[in-house]
Amino acid sequence: MNYPSDGNETIPTDFDDVVQQVSTGSLAHQKIDELLHEAHERYSDVDDGLLAHYIPILGHADPDLFAIAMSHVGGSVHEVGDCQHEFSIQSIAKMFVYALVVQEHGREVVRERIGVNNTGMPFNSVMAVELNNGHPMNPMVNAGAIATTEMIPGRTSAKKWENVRAGLSAFAGRQLTLDDDVYASESESNERNKAVGRLLKSYRRIEGDPLAAVDVYTRQCSLNVTAYDLAVMGATLADGGVNPVTGQRVVDADVCRDTLAAVATSGLYEHSGDWLFEIGIPAKSGVSGGIVAIAPGKGAIGAFSPPLDIAGNSVKAQLAIGHLSRAMGLNLFASAPEKSLLAKAGRG
Ligand code: GLN
Repeated sequence: MNYPSDGNETIPTDFDDVVQQVSTGSLAHQKIDELLHEAHERYSDVDDGLLAHYIPILGHADPDLFAIAMSHVGGSVHEVGDCQHEFSIQSIAKMFVYALVVQEHGREVVRERIGVNNTGMPFNSVMAVELNNGHPMNPMVNAGAIATTEMIPGRTSAKKWENVRAGLSAFAGRQLTLDDDVYASESESNERNKAVGRLLKSYRRIEGDPLAAVDVYTRQCSLNVTAYDLAVMGATLADGGVNPVTGQRVVDADVCRDTLAAVATSGLYEHSGDWLFEIGIPAKSGVSGGIVAIAPGKGAIGAFSPPLDIAGNSVKAQLAIGHLSRAMGLNLFASAPEKSLLAKAGRG
């Protein structure tokens, strides 16, 4: 039992002995390809948003690239646009690294060290750490992600990095490679992340060398993926931890559930509440322009377009995923009266 002791740190929980049931339904939509094309066509001409110039090399991306892919838990992958174009995964890695770390250490150890609440602040906020007495609060913002990466098994940084790469590759179902140019560009311009690392060390949220932790974190952000990869990686989280294309179990089903809860609170940073309100499925974005959105038990959408909104989320990827979530009925919070559904099916 875990009732909050002093204020609103967490919600009361008293249901550990209740068997967890799963009731997600299956993806009802037959016209996935048609809807993907519809969304791609509808938003291709949108030219809002700015490139992520704070990482120099990302400021040179082609703003017209646009890809949407969807992977069904049944194993089929659908794609439209530049789905084979590789880009650095950036913050989307945080979600998968978190899953690997929860798998290794268990949910409570990671929850205690990192937390799962929204910081309400930008992804690279130093203030969020200071305001919370050094507690990173959430694994989807840089502070929490750097501390999470440090918990990846491996006695040396090289071993930790190899484990991150192998783990993310298992989610994707293929060997992912480092983008050396992005890694170099980011390593030369990541003073802020180094400051966050050192701050975390001062609060003992990082045990070893903070700059080594930031280096593994920077490498994980520089792994190359495609929109197709994102769809498959997300679908692995939608499929109880089994990659629907390779059939390999990557993490446990409980780990997927916990990871998606953490992603729902903060996957799109300070816009995460609005995102849930409008779109209704957990999603994680990265500053190179990728977003992956997960519909548990159904599948996942990977979308990519480099121009970003003010919070650092791809404008077109948000539009495309929003469209598909509505058209396919993916919103987790939506329901219709049981009777009207039965009547529609001719059984009312
Ligand atoms: N590598 C980027 C950073 O640490 C990731 C940020 C992001 O994708 N939002 O600044």
